[in-house]
Amino acid sequence: MVDRRPYWKTVLILLIIFASVVFAWIMRLREPQTMMARVPDKMVALTFDDGPDPRFTPAVLQILKARNLSATFFIIGQNASEHPELVQEIAKDGHIVANHSYTHPHLENLTKDQVDSQLSETDHVLQQILGPGAPVPVYFRPPRGNLSSNIEETASEMNKQIILWNVCVENHTTTTPKEVEKRVMKLIDQNHGGVLLAHDGGLDRTLTIQSLPLILDDLKREGYQIVPLPVYLHTRSQM
Ligand SMILES: [Zn+2]
Repeated sequence: MVDRRPYWKTVLILLIIFASVVFAWIMRLREPQTMMARVPDKMVALTFDDGPDPRFTPAVLQILKARNLSATFFIIGQNASEHPELVQEIAKDGHIVANHSYTHPHLENLTKDQVDSQLSETDHVLQQILGPGAPVPVYFRPPRGNLSSNIEETASEMNKQIILWNVCVENHTTTTPKEVEKRVMKLIDQNHGGVLLAHDGGLDRTLTIQSLPLILDDLKREGYQIVPLPVYLHTRSQM
């Protein structure tokens, strides 16, 4: 009789390896959510991506100023070089200037050198606009929230903290300011707060501009603290 045990042993080992690879892959896919899962109670940090854009950034700045709120702007380097005056206005209003890559590519498919140049070129153009005294951006948000080991390693080598989000204002299911307000507030209430992402550039952001005052006023009415990102992150680190 042929002894088949060694064969099954190999199959078992291969199965275990396969299961581990699948598990690691699933955990990797889950990362963007889990990284931002913990939320300081009733605390919100505002973030804006894809600007600056002369069509929408001034309106966002005005809405924030009217409510004396501070936000973080994840800026695309190329847009900054086209509209340096808007970057200056963002910084002058006391908001945090952060890095969102140079051309908003699918960064997760790029080599480490390419990721590096996307981040450093953006830092460079922001420093040129804001002057040598301005701090180098410490926060980085990868386009679409997609991660890779190249992105994570480069960000860490450049001493940048990767910031994702809990709730996004824009969603294809909501088409009126009231609908946007209702959906966003429902998600914020479910999370008891979180990092809110809205966009001030890229596509047509008219709906965002119309919805933002409603959301900000709801947050205030419901007793949420709207804090700068460093305050939010510090509070979270103490949890
Ligand atoms: Zn983006």
